[in-house]
Amino acid sequence: METEWTTKIVETAEKNQGPFFDYLRLQSVSTQKRMIPETANYVKQLIESFGGEAKLLEDLGGHPIVYGFFKAGQNGNAEKTLLFYNHYDVQPEDPLNEWKTEPFEPTIKDDILYCRGVSDNKANFMSRLNAIQILSESEDGLPCNIKFLVEGEEEIGSPTIDLYLEKYADLFAADACIWEAGSKDNEERFTIDAGIKGIAYFDAWVDSAEVDIHSSKGAVVNNAAWRLTHALSSLRNADHQVTIDGFYELMTPPTELEQSFVEKIPFNGEKLKENYGLKQPLITEKTTWSPQAALILYPTMTISGMLSGYTGPGSKTVLPRRAQAKIDVRLVPGMDPEDVYDVIRRHWDAQGFSDIELKLITGEKAFRTDLTDPFVQTVLESARKVYGEDIVLNPNSPGTGPMHGFGEYLSVPILGSGTGWAKSGAHAPNENVRLQDFYQGIEHMIILLKDFGEKE
Ligand SMILES: [Zn+2]
Repeated sequence: METEWTTKIVETAEKNQGPFFDYLRLQSVSTQKRMIPETANYVKQLIESFGGEAKLLEDLGGHPIVYGFFKAGQNGNAEKTLLFYNHYDVQPEDPLNEWKTEPFEPTIKDDILYCRGVSDNKANFMSRLNAIQILSESEDGLPCNIKFLVEGEEEIGSPTIDLYLEKYADLFAADACIWEAGSKDNEERFTIDAGIKGIAYFDAWVDSAEVDIHSSKGAVVNNAAWRLTHALSSLRNADHQVTIDGFYELMTPPTELEQSFVEKIPFNGEKLKENYGLKQPLITEKTTWSPQAALILYPTMTISGMLSGYTGPGSKTVLPRRAQAKIDVRLVPGMDPEDVYDVIRRHWDAQGFSDIELKLITGEKAFRTDLTDPFVQTVLESARKVYGEDIVLNPNSPGTGPMHGFGEYLSVPILGSGTGWAKSGAHAPNENVRLQDFYQGIEHMIILLKDFGEKE
């Protein structure tokens, strides 16, 4: 679809392809600490070369965070500031043999750009810089102030970002925030997330003896595998309802407006079954809430792994002395990971499972933008101008990210917009972005910034 911006966008994107590809070539794999300082410096220089101010923040440890600033143009609204959040780190590129191109060599084939990190999250960052350049060169200049926070630890769970957000809350102060990413779904509908779920991740284990024991003693001796199984099964019933006292009470109940957006989210259960070769019915066939509500508005209770006893070939008749499990709980707003620990602990103690050990190993709170905030309408309206009427807004995504600190320390509404599509393959081999989506992403940022600058 041609618009008034199309020619300028393609022209600008092509002109900036060199620096974009150099950025993609930097192998900024955070979990392996590869090329992190180089990439942080490159991002800083990139912001400067587009006319912004930039600096590195690294006084609180962790990988450097890049701060960037672009001042509103002469006819712009200097009273308003939009913050862009992006990350420069990427996931490891393996399995190498599944790549059809060199993982870190940007390659365009059939109007699709392949490279590790292109969809998650380097193209989004570049689409924003391209939009800034186009607006800066336009008659009115930049419509508002723009800040960037580009971090290098997103792919390892952003362990230090909250420290920086707390200390540098004034530096990053803004009226609203556009999150790192967004994409089109299976049916090409543009999707916007206005929040994220949180997570509480636990180790659970029990010891039933000091040694493994001959299983003939199973007549009188209980074992760790049974013990843990019983404790775990007390957490969720056969209808998939969590049966921990006080668990659902931790949730902030969703508003009617949030529910109305959730009802409009498309969901194709058959497709899901087919994609994963599911051999069990969907658990929402038994819950009183819909799959959409389950994904967005309700917490999960998942056993992510179990280990006990002998599982090799043939038989070994043994009473295992130890059993271990990993428990993963996706949280909705209102649920503090520590409180989730407390309700599980209390539940197990009350049910006679005081011997089961429980340890919270990671926790992150959820965040949901207030959907009555005018910024929500600004983002939706600007997106409709680019992507058409059929847009999906998730009050929060079913996944987790470091959004809560932005809400807490900066008090901003946060929505995502990005250049991905259903087959972008983030974290997977042959990660890619379609050039057409990249151009649309630039256009969305142009229109959004203009609309945002104009609003009171
Ligand atoms: Zn990622």
